[in-house]
Amino acid sequence: MFESAKRQMELAYNYSKISEDVKEKLKYPKRVLQVAIPVRRDNGSLSVFKGYRVQYDDTRGPTKGGIRYHQSVDLDEVTALAFWMTFKCALANLPFGGAKGGICVNTKELSLLEIERLSRGYIDAIADFIGPDIDIPAPDMYTNSMIMGWMSDQYDIIKRTKAPAAITGKPVSLGGSLGRTEATGRGGYYIIREAVKALGMKMKGGVVAIQGFGNVGYNIARLMYESGFKIVALSDVEGGIYKEEGLNPDEIKMTIDKADAGAYGGKSLVSLKNMKKLTNTELLELPVDILIPAALENQITGKNADKIQAKIIVEMANGPTTFEADSILNKKGIMVVPDILANSGGVTVSYFEWVQNKSAYYWSLDEVNRRVKAIMADEFRNVYQISQEKKISMRTAAYVHALNRVAQAIESKGTREYFTSR
Ligand code: NAD
Repeated sequence: MFESAKRQMELAYNYSKISEDVKEKLKYPKRVLQVAIPVRRDNGSLSVFKGYRVQYDDTRGPTKGGIRYHQSVDLDEVTALAFWMTFKCALANLPFGGAKGGICVNTKELSLLEIERLSRGYIDAIADFIGPDIDIPAPDMYTNSMIMGWMSDQYDIIKRTKAPAAITGKPVSLGGSLGRTEATGRGGYYIIREAVKALGMKMKGGVVAIQGFGNVGYNIARLMYESGFKIVALSDVEGGIYKEEGLNPDEIKMTIDKADAGAYGGKSLVSLKNMKKLTNTELLELPVDILIPAALENQITGKNADKIQAKIIVEMANGPTTFEADSILNKKGIMVVPDILANSGGVTVSYFEWVQNKSAYYWSLDEVNRRVKAIMADEFRNVYQISQEKKISMRTAAYVHALNRVAQAIESKGTREYFTSR
């Protein structure tokens, strides 16, 4: 994954005037941490989980990035995600570098109390390497605001202080920002409005399929539904549902949330009765206007890219499209709004949370939404303009734009041209 992520960036080298020093600097992560987290289980036994934190580049500021709980988490995945965070933060012009963390765990096999012990244990293991001015974690897949609250509390216990700015995505009552929970989905929605405008398409009646009905998938679905899009398919890890006349995301969420309260609340979509079912593979290949992968990486690959029928793909998940698939989609003329642009609303509001925590002054929801909307719309237009001018894909254009910002920071400390000229 990491090598494939770097290849995406290297394509942008052909369209940016950056020094060899920058290319050298961006080859490797700055700091890689692997930890073992012992957790006492409810039955008295002990389990040890592998955890990671990778800080990729901090030239533009303290590093920032989420923490993922998933059974497929490994060092390669976390490094790729930290690499993407570096460019995502630069693209949104946030004063942060990129990082990511993760624990290799299937949370469905743990009780809530075991998840709390695991989360606190992870902070015990990495506390010396994070902090408000060093590296600031946030939520990602299978982590939520309650988990961030436990982590923030554990950090404060270790450091014998109150440092809310050390972790973002906390509950609002513990210093979280209004609008953070829905921020990634909301940011993606603002991006879609711009993309639809740029391509001369209509929002009302636009047909949409969304893979992944978690935090990101649900929130983007809700906002799109409210503005008149027709969401014909939704899915989760177990499969999807389809309705030609359109699905109401709020009604569906209420039904599955009410049905059960598992570790993260809710049943699978496939448990809904009287609903046409489809697989995740079938969902990706539906004839829709907009396809939104909002689950895992590597979903659109060299094997299925040719079968994709959407006009626009908006990557709300990180890395859902492989390098091979990307060139197939480009040849088909499909606009792919890349992850580092599409899902940057989350880290942008995390940045707002950090600013509010540091200044101990809290903003209204309107203020948060107004500011995130402005950043998302501006950066979409910047990337779109580069892609039109240079006749390159939105992904390469996004890397050109972000790379220029990262490069400027690296180069302002001196380049080999500068040092050898005198
Ligand atoms: P989440 O845990 O809330 O939801 C994940 C959803 O994906 C669930 O519906 C789950 O059932 C589904 N899923 C898991 N494995 C799947 C599979 N193999 N096939 C289909 N569906 C599957 O996670 P989230 O926070 O919504 O994150 C989703 C994606 O968005 C991830 O790639 C994450 O890195 C990215 N992202 C999240 C944020 C954020 O703020 N939460 C920010 C930026 C990017």
